[in-house]
Amino acid sequence: MSTRTKKILTFYTGQQVCTDQIQNASFSKSPLKPYLLMQRIKTKGLNTIFKRISNFAPFTKEDFKIAHTETYINNFFQGEGNYLSNSLPWSKNLVHSVCYTNAALYEAKKHSILNPQTVCFAPVSGMHHAQPHRGSGFCTFSGQVISAIKLYNEFGVSGAYFDLDGHFGNSIEDSRVFNPILDQAIPVGCNINPYGKNEDYLESFKEGLKHVGKLIKAGKIHYVVFAHGADSHEDDDIGGGCNTKNWLLCASIFADWVNEISEETGKFLPVTLALFGGYRADNYNAVLDLHIKSLLQCAKTICQNEVKNEVVRARKLVRI
Ligand SMILES: [Zn+2]
Repeated sequence: MSTRTKKILTFYTGQQVCTDQIQNASFSKSPLKPYLLMQRIKTKGLNTIFKRISNFAPFTKEDFKIAHTETYINNFFQGEGNYLSNSLPWSKNLVHSVCYTNAALYEAKKHSILNPQTVCFAPVSGMHHAQPHRGSGFCTFSGQVISAIKLYNEFGVSGAYFDLDGHFGNSIEDSRVFNPILDQAIPVGCNINPYGKNEDYLESFKEGLKHVGKLIKAGKIHYVVFAHGADSHEDDDIGGGCNTKNWLLCASIFADWVNEISEETGKFLPVTLALFGGYRADNYNAVLDLHIKSLLQCAKTICQNEVKNEVVRARKLVRI
C-alpha cells in the first residue's frame, strides 16, 4: 500500500447551509452547523488538515424518492401538509440546503469508494431520524439511506454506519420495507449504534467494529461511515452517554481500527466522516470543538497529519 492522502477531503458548499430563522427560532442549529464548523476550522487555522470541494450537484426530488413517498417530498418542497414534521422552521432556503447536505454525504462516500486512500468528510447532520413518509427529530430526508442505495446501484458496494449520535439512527431500519434494496446497500446488523454509558458504550462500539471488521474481511462490506455525533457527550442538552475522555476515545478506537483493517486486508478501507447531532444552548462552540477534535484524531491516526498545538488549544476552548 502507498500512503493515505494527507488532507481530509471536505464536501462543503455554502449552499448546504440554511440561515433563515435557525439561529433564533430553532432548537436545533443543524441547518447552520456546516457553516459554523467550517468557520471554526478556518479560525483555528486548520487548513493543513482539510481540503474543500464545493462543485457538486444538489439532490433532486428523484433522488429523495429512493427513500421517501412522493407526497412527503412534495409537501416539504411546497411547505404543505406534514412539512413541519422535522420540527425545523421551514423556508425555501431550508429546502434548498437539504438538497445539498444530502448530496454532500453521497459525494463524499462516492469519492471515498473511488479513491480509498482519501478520507472524505461531509459536514452534515439532520438525516438519521427521517422516515419514508415524514421528517422527524430535526431530520428531513434519509441521506444515509439514499446515498447507500445510489452507491449500491452504481457500484454494487455495501456499507456500514457507525452512528455515534446520542440517539438511535432509526432511518435505516425504518426504510427497509419502503426500499428493499437497502438490505443489500446497508445489510442488517450494519447500522451500528453503540449504547450504554462510558465504558459500556466503548465496549458496545468495539463489538460493532469487530462485527463489521469480519464482514469487511469476508468481502461483504466495502466502505464505512463514521458519524461521531456530539450529543453522545454527557454535557449535551439532549444526549449524553460519554464523558470527554470516553467520547474522544471513540475517535481514536475508530481510527486505529481503520488502520488495522486496512493493514489486514492490504487495501485502504474507504472512510467517510459526518457530523450528526450536537446541542448546547450555553456553548455551541463546545459542540463544534468536539467535532473538530474527533476529526483531528482521524487526521492524525489515519492520514498521519497532525496539528499538535491545535489539540491543546481546543481542549481549553471546550471548557468541560
Ligand atoms: Zn441525536
